[in-house]
Amino acid sequence: MNLALLKEYRELFENHYKNLDESKAIGILNKENLSNEDLITLLNVENPQIIKLMATKAKAITDKYFGKTILLYAPLYISNLCNSGCVYCGFSKLNSGVVRKKLSFSEIKDELLSLKSEGLDSILILTGEDRLNSPFEYIYEACKLASEYFSEVSVEVYPLDEEEYLSLTKVNVIGLTIYQETYDIEQYDKLHLFGTKKDFSYRLNAPERAANAHIKEICIGPLLGLSNPKEDVFLSLLHAKYLMDKFPDLEVSISFPRFRKANVFFNPKYFVSDREFIKYIAAARLFLNRVGITISTRENSILRDALIGYGITKMSAGSKTKVGGYAKSDNLQGQFETEDKRNVREVIEAIKSKVYRHEFTNWIKGVSTI
Ligand code: SF4
Repeated sequence: MNLALLKEYRELFENHYKNLDESKAIGILNKENLSNEDLITLLNVENPQIIKLMATKAKAITDKYFGKTILLYAPLYISNLCNSGCVYCGFSKLNSGVVRKKLSFSEIKDELLSLKSEGLDSILILTGEDRLNSPFEYIYEACKLASEYFSEVSVEVYPLDEEEYLSLTKVNVIGLTIYQETYDIEQYDKLHLFGTKKDFSYRLNAPERAANAHIKEICIGPLLGLSNPKEDVFLSLLHAKYLMDKFPDLEVSISFPRFRKANVFFNPKYFVSDREFIKYIAAARLFLNRVGITISTRENSILRDALIGYGITKMSAGSKTKVGGYAKSDNLQGQFETEDKRNVREVIEAIKSKVYRHEFTNWIKGVSTI
């Protein structure tokens, strides 16, 4: 998605937002295919009864396209070294109080074995944005090691070049997670003071570079609270649609993490209530029937359990957001605070109690080399 198209979508949101008519929402719920304007209307619905109807329809669509299954995964932080200055993040270079750590390959192996013993088979490898201390070769070797144990290896690292994404597919990396954080380019500039992450455009185009390199699964999204959340949800969904249209074989998913306390003094400009959050998930499902929707342990167990079946398709479980958090317990700080602290078994029990089934992987091992 280029900046001109993003500008066009932002103008569409601003213009339609001025002429909202909530009474049109019921008619929209009877439609098969929603327009961009319909999506804006649904994202702005305030009536709780209409939000309930949206959630009910979202459930029916999710069951139709995804069945009664929830995919489980866990994040693995291998380094918290970061040269970027994101004012909202506990791992920011601005945060001099944080203890920095980068795992050796032997420590990564311990983490992998610890996660594997929980039954997990899908893993997301994360680093801060620091090409000097966590060069591409380090990430590549970590993924290669992970793919010896896990069927599904994904990365959430600094934006890479197309050739680098291609190299990762050779060691069985199938997925990329990359959050734009906010699609409000002016606000983005104020929140990202320095470092590689300051380059809005290079980040925005990372999913396309990865798709060109045959990464099979891409998760995008905003960090809710940094800018107008309705606009960020709208733009992230149009970004997802753009990717789905351009790359029909790509599995696109979306996530709407809400800002959480993160060992830094930062108060987000916007608060997103549970009701708003549920509405965004329902609207996403109604607008993009086949998009995957991921929910992390940033959300509490009650809300996560309540949302099983209502749009979400993938959940993290037993997550630790500090480096080396699985094999050893130490005093390192995490990137942010998790709300759902249950272990993998407990999350599986919760899924079963809803008469849904958990899956440990979406992919057959070695599929990325086909
Ligand atoms: S959000 Fe990512 S790039 Fe920004 S400070 Fe945190 S770890 Fe670094």
